[in-house]
Amino acid sequence: MKPADTKIAFVGLGLMGVPMAKNLLKAGYALAGFDLNKDVAAKFADDKRFQFVSSPEQAIQDADITILMLPDSTIIDSLLWGSAGQSGIAEKLPKNSYLIDMSSSSPTSSKENNKKLAQLGVKFVDAPVSGGVKKAIDGSLSIIVGGQKTHFEELSPLLGCMGKSIVQVGDAGAAHAVKALNNYVSAAGLIAVSEALNAAAEFGLDTHVVNTVFNASTGRNNTTENKVENFMLNDAFNSGFSLTLMSKDVQIALKFIQDMNCYADLAQQCVATAKEADQKLGKGADHTAMYDYVRSQKR
Ligand code: NAD
Repeated sequence: MKPADTKIAFVGLGLMGVPMAKNLLKAGYALAGFDLNKDVAAKFADDKRFQFVSSPEQAIQDADITILMLPDSTIIDSLLWGSAGQSGIAEKLPKNSYLIDMSSSSPTSSKENNKKLAQLGVKFVDAPVSGGVKKAIDGSLSIIVGGQKTHFEELSPLLGCMGKSIVQVGDAGAAHAVKALNNYVSAAGLIAVSEALNAAAEFGLDTHVVNTVFNASTGRNNTTENKVENFMLNDAFNSGFSLTLMSKDVQIALKFIQDMNCYADLAQQCVATAKEADQKLGKGADHTAMYDYVRSQKR
């Protein structure tokens, strides 16, 4: 699949979708993009190989590959299969084309979508990403892939334009399971660090020094290394990953763990904390504002 001969439809041009689409353009692919927010078109004004279209149907016309980078599975399932009397795009996807769901979706929905799309002659791959906006911009995301090996091999060069580590973990849906579990582990770390730093501050300690100790000790994690100084202790809370999306991810992980009939006590508490913080902080809050939420809670 040479970039010059491959037409891509890109649906979902938000904080992650825009930089990912830009990296595909940089690699020479032509893109038809669609998002409910028409303002994003201006972000591609300089690129002649990008066309912002007015419907998902228009984006997928003649597409060899359709990429979804949307918030969640409810939105994806409505887009594919329709809702509220509106028909979906699944039946209009070109035969033998690929549909790559790069969103952090539910593994159960993805398994189902894979089955239904195969009946329509469309090849489904789940390829969620990890690394956030910074790595989406510099094209160094970690991309987790689920689907057939031949599909993984054919798509690897394209995924390599957006990511550095590209690992196939299993069949369709497997990558969405691994992504949700990863984000649960990450969210648990964020909540633990928020609670620990808040208590340290109450004790009169310098939280910068405490985090330096964490980073030199066994409490070190992605939050202590990358979030505490950049987004939390400075009250910036602007990492580019919303609390609503984090809450959605831990809910997917909890359901997955429960579906496996496995112990899930901490996951249950993470879901409760994430939901409550999301509700209290309101729409648009960044996930790093978990620290702000924890500070505001008094026992
Ligand atoms: P975002 O909210 O910034 O972007 C989502 C975009 O989808 C928005 O521009 C919105 O207008 C658009 N949209 C919603 N419904 C639509 C529809 N029906 N048709 C067309 N467009 C629609 O979210 P994001 O941060 O870019 O995240 C996208 C996905 O990637 C999510 O599943 C998220 O969990 C995952 N993710 C995000 C990050 C991050 O750091 N932000 C990191 C890894 C994975």
